Amino acid sequence: MSKPLESRISLVTGASRGIGRAAAVALAAAGAHVIAVARTVGGLEEADDEIRKAGGQATLVPLDLKDFEALDRLGASIFERWGRLDAFFGNAGVLGALTPLTHLDPKLFQELLDINVTANWRLIRSLDPLLRRSEAGRALFVSSGAARKHRPYWGGYAMSKAALESLALTYAAECDGTNIKVNLLNPGPTRTAMRAKAMPGEDAATLPPPEALAPLVVEMLSPSYQKNGELVAFHRDHSPSP
Ligand code: NDP
Repeated sequence: MSKPLESRISLVTGASRGIGRAAAVALAAAGAHVIAVARTVGGLEEADDEIRKAGGQATLVPLDLKDFEALDRLGASIFERWGRLDAFFGNAGVLGALTPLTHLDPKLFQELLDINVTANWRLIRSLDPLLRRSEAGRALFVSSGAARKHRPYWGGYAMSKAALESLALTYAAECDGTNIKVNLLNPGPTRTAMRAKAMPGEDAATLPPPEALAPLVVEMLSPSYQKNGELVAFHRDHSPSP
């Protein structure tokens, strides 16, 4: 029996651990070929092992998302090898430091913009021609409830996610009437390294693991997902709520 995402080419940023790794495994298990992007080679190799165990296939791309020229080259390489891209999961992100805005190190502020915002824009720019060549190009970006909460000390992360939402929703509007659908996902608290850094006193066992979120990622990157310009929040009961 053929798998639901059989022969679809997908790209996942932040595939070395956490939400990106769980999503990469789930996409591969659903039949997609996964182009797995992150810096940590060991983490990418572990993802590859899990993908193989799930009967899937991956191409590992060790890359720093701050290397913007490399993101341009990535689009060209995908074109040469596959001629198109069917699904782009813009998941990689950094938390920066939870600190008053007046104390935030300018280097960390710049890194939040570089990874959470600019890298996604550079990838949109690089991958859009490839998504247009797909019968049903799908792009999904990972935001956070922090984007709209304006809590003290979360300003750096929050402004980067608010900017990402604006970027993704504008791209969605520009894709209206094409075969591309662009959406946002707010995972909610999820048991990952980033969450542990943000909430060091929390009992991680009380949080859903990233694997609980993965089926929703697969659904939102599938050709059957017809919404465009939506921000979907994941809830603990595992059902999406727009
Ligand atoms: P993790 O810290 O576990 O994973 C982050 C991923 O991003 C890693 O694979 C990391 O790979 C990659 N990454 C970070 N910096 C770079 C870089 N410079 N170049 C390439 N890859 C990079 O985080 P989560 O899985 O928790 O987070 C995934 C997304 O979900 C993020 O966008 C986050 O903001 C969002 N989110 C998470 C929540 C949670 O509770 N966990 C809640 C709300 C939103 P490597 O270090 O190998 O490069």
